Amino acid sequence: TKFTDLGLDQSLIDAVTDLGFEKPSEVQEKAIPILLESETDLVALAQTGTGKTAAFGFPLIQKIDSDSRTTQGLILSPTRELCLQITNELKLYSKYEKNVNVVAIYGGASITDQARQIKRGAQIIVATPGRMKDMISRGLVNITKIDYCVLDEADEMLNMGFFEDIKDILSDTPDEKSTWLFSATMPREVSTIAKKFMHSPKEITV
Ligand code: AMP
Repeated sequence: TKFTDLGLDQSLIDAVTDLGFEKPSEVQEKAIPILLESETDLVALAQTGTGKTAAFGFPLIQKIDSDSRTTQGLILSPTRELCLQITNELKLYSKYEKNVNVVAIYGGASITDQARQIKRGAQIIVATPGRMKDMISRGLVNITKIDYCVLDEADEMLNMGFFEDIKDILSDTPDEKSTWLFSATMPREVSTIAKKFMHSPKEITV
């Protein structure tokens, strides 16, 4: 399978070429067509280093409406490092898109600066659960109109004690969105989140 077989727009193919990715990884090959073709929930069992950021990142960038400034996609990830890494990757993937803004939200940095970036219009927010919840409760961010929610490294987030934060954040999002959950393992708390917040998800394992 080639990247050009997955249904991606030329602007994303051009970004792939610049990145030097020769062919899609297994999780990309399995997830990208599903996510592009349908508005579906997805549970993907995939370890780090398998290329999962691109597996959800490319479809997300292709699907959002860049003419709108509304926040349309939320990615929750366990750590500040991962948050920044995902944000940087998404910026590389969207380099040929006009007006796609990706903003990272994480603890241990100025909330005022992050709020300012959100105010400029972030179609995609990449956040750690604690800071995200804090910003929601202070009215600094609005995720009530998102279409896509990605839970990245769900097992790690739950290991780190973010169960309540994740539930609170998801309760603040519309029910009609699509949720894409990526996890290396499927412990009980992850299935609880999936059962409570997802609707007949498609499943892939790599
Ligand atoms: P991830 O699992 O998303 O953290 O990705 C791990 C690393 O693999 C990142 O540095 C990506 O830039 C890189 N990568 C992702 N997809 C591909 C691909 N199809 N070919 C080569 N490298 C890739």
